[in-house]
Parts: sequence; structure tokens; C-alpha cells
Amino acid sequence: MFQAPKGTYDVLPRDAERRGILKSHVQRIFGGAGYRRIETPAFESTELFARGVGASTDIVQKEMYSFDDGGGRSMTLRPEGTAPICRAYIEHGMHKLPLPVKFWYLGSFFRAEQPQKGRYRQFWQVGAEAIGAAAPETDAEIIVLLAELLDAMGVKGTRLRLASLGTPETRVEYRDELTGYLHAHESELSDEVRARIDLNPMRAFDSSDRGTQAVMANAPKLLDRLAPDDAEHFDQVKRLLDVAGIRYELDPALVRGLDYYTRTLFEFSSDALGAQSGVGGGGRYDRLIEQLGGQPTPGIGFAAGIERILLAGAEQPIAPDPVDLLVVVADREDRTAAVAGFELAREARQAGLAAQLELTGRSLKSALKHADRINARYVAIVNDQKSATLKEMDSGEQHDLKATGVIATILRGSRLA
Ligand code: ATP
Ligand code: MG
Repeated sequence: MFQAPKGTYDVLPRDAERRGILKSHVQRIFGGAGYRRIETPAFESTELFARGVGASTDIVQKEMYSFDDGGGRSMTLRPEGTAPICRAYIEHGMHKLPLPVKFWYLGSFFRAEQPQKGRYRQFWQVGAEAIGAAAPETDAEIIVLLAELLDAMGVKGTRLRLASLGTPETRVEYRDELTGYLHAHESELSDEVRARIDLNPMRAFDSSDRGTQAVMANAPKLLDRLAPDDAEHFDQVKRLLDVAGIRYELDPALVRGLDYYTRTLFEFSSDALGAQSGVGGGGRYDRLIEQLGGQPTPGIGFAAGIERILLAGAEQPIAPDPVDLLVVVADREDRTAAVAGFELAREARQAGLAAQLELTGRSLKSALKHADRINARYVAIVNDQKSATLKEMDSGEQHDLKATGVIATILRGSRLA
């Protein structure tokens, strides 16, 4: 027996419904704020992610599905959406469009991870990017819109953590300071953190090791080292969130697994989720587009995991698909009646009715049971090429009609006469 590959899953029709609801909220909330949909390919050149996500990140170090495209070029199934969207922005010369250029996206992404609840190898993200605007209002807008989306999906127990990373220059200085501090406390750190001190010292804040956590509690914090204009930018973001009534916690230790962030950094988590509590996050990436070969262009965005939104979100009552009409051919051996039934269902759909044709060859009796199960309003039993019996399921009333009169009768309303 075949099974879905490890870390993947099937979206069955009953699961697809809530995803459809999510998408319509995204369209409403982000579309209403001037964000337009973009979709990029499922794979890109490996170099794009190495450069755009950062060579020292978990994603690039160990989570990429890379393969040879057959022509000696290394490709990677996209692990995230921001680098590809910036690539598209540059490739299509979108800097000529009125700025900012605002996108939303929804699609699947791939990371070679140890699968567990809320963590998959193929997973879905919804995200947005606002490119070409440096104003702190942009940062606050992105956060407010994501909060609105989580709220619309009924995501419970959300927490928002907020920080600012300042500029890369500030970070380089801070990084030296932090690296020095970590080396001075090497013996108290976990092996994993110690091994990565020089590669990615910020990750030490992420550690779940007790000894490391004790060291990090007294570590120098980047938030205390911000340059004046970065601190001012961050103050304004906070002020706007306060006005919008969005609650947040300042987290000087907030670290996200992507290297390209500058200034604002944020993450929503939910207490309704277990160990994988991150619902979605993002930040500002004012150097990324330049790093990918474009003009210096500021940008900010977020990505949120759809599985986690659905896990932490409210179950919405899902109405069954309406069925106006089930067409049953009384004697399917009768080829002309079968044709008439097929045509009746097709014409009913063209007239705007939700109409299905009985396809399994059930007996009339079990076809009526089936009609009950799928909640059909009417059943048309096609007797021969020209005549049909129309039964209203609620009342049980039934009448013989010309086959051509069935659709008009249903459209007229519930009275059969
Ligand atoms: P985590 O800490 O859970 O590994 P991350 O920092 O790698 O998350 P991002 O790269 O910021 O996550 O992606 C944004 C969101 O995408 C996450 O908050 C999460 O909801 C979702 N996500 C990330 N990786 C996965 C995955 N492997 N399976 C399902 N959802 C994921
Ligand atoms: Mg991760």
C-alpha cells in the first residue's frame, strides 16, 4: 500500500472548506488594504535562498530540498516566500510601479524537518510583503492586518512578541559584544550553542538548555544598543500598535531563523498550540533587495503557517454543499432516457441550479435514500426520453411532468403544481 510521504498530508474535501474560508478572509483583509496576490514557482535556484535567507540559517544549513535540474544547476523547493518575491520584484522591474508594491501570497513550501504536530515537510503559508516603504506605519499595518486575519480565523490564545534588530552595522558591533560574552561563559553553555557561538550567536537566545538560559538572562541586549533613528522608528511602530489596541510583549531575545531582517521583527504565537507554538511572524528587510541585485529598496513582510492557524483556530460550522436537484434515470438500460437524464442535469446546472446525476446504478429506492443523505431538495426521476417525475424531498410531494418542465418548476419555487 502506498502512503503519503513522511511529513506530508492530504487536504481532503472536508479540510479544503476551512482553507477556502481562510483564503476569502485573506482576500478581504489584505485586498482591502491594497495588497494583490502573487505566486512564484515552487522551486528556485539554490543560490537565491543561500543569498536571500542567509547561509548560517537553519533553513539553508539543513532544511532545503535541493536537486540538480538535469542541466547541472542546483534548484531548491522553496522553503519560504520572501526571497522569491523579491527576486520577482527585481526581475519584473516593479520599482517602476507606484510604491509601495504590496503583495499577498498563499501556497505550499518545503523544508526537510523532523515532522511532528504542526511541523511538516510540505506545509502551507499565507504571507504578505510591502516593498518600497520604510515608514513605521508600514510595519504597524502589516502587523495589524495579520492580527485581523488571525482574529477572523478565531485563533485562540495569541501572543505577539516584538523587537527591533536595528541595522546590520549595529548588529555587527552587537554581535561582537555578544560573541565575547558567550565565549566568556562557554563552560555554562550547551554543546550545541557553544559550537555555534561564532556562526550565529543570536541563536543562543533560542536555546531550551537551562544553563544557557541562565547565561542569556544577563547577556547584552540588542534593543539597548539601537542607533537613534532605529530606536525612533521602533518607538513609532510601538505607538501605532498601542493606538490600534494591539497588545505585544517586547522580546529582546526574539530571534527568527532568517538572516535578512533589519529593524522591526515580530512573531505571533498561540497557547492553543503545543511545542510548535509559532503561528506566524515577519519583519523588515531593508537590505535584502539590494543583496539580491536590485536597487536599495526597503521592505517588510510576514509569513504565517496555515496548518497552525487551522489547529489554533475556531472550528467553523460548515454548511453542506447545497444540492437543488438529483437526477435519477429510472431504467438506465434505456439509452435515450439516460441521454435525457444527462442533458437534464447539464441544463439544470446551466440554469444555475446545483444539480447532480445519479451515477452508480443504484435502485430507485436507494437513489432516494442517497438524495436524503446529500440533502437534495428535489429528485427528478427520468422515466423516458420525454417524461419525468419530480419529487420535492421535504414535503414528499411528487408530480409527473414533461422532462422539459422540470427546471422551470424548480426555479419557480417550492410549489410543484
Ligand atoms: P519554527 O520556529 O516553528 O521552526 P520558523 O521560524 O522556522 O518556525 P518561519 O520561517 O518564520 O518559521 O515561517 C513562518 C511560519 O510558518 C511559522 O510561524 C509556522 O507557523 C510556519 N511554519 C514554518 N515551518 C513550518 C513547518 N515545517 N511546518 C508547518 N508550518 C511551518
Ligand atoms: Mg523552523
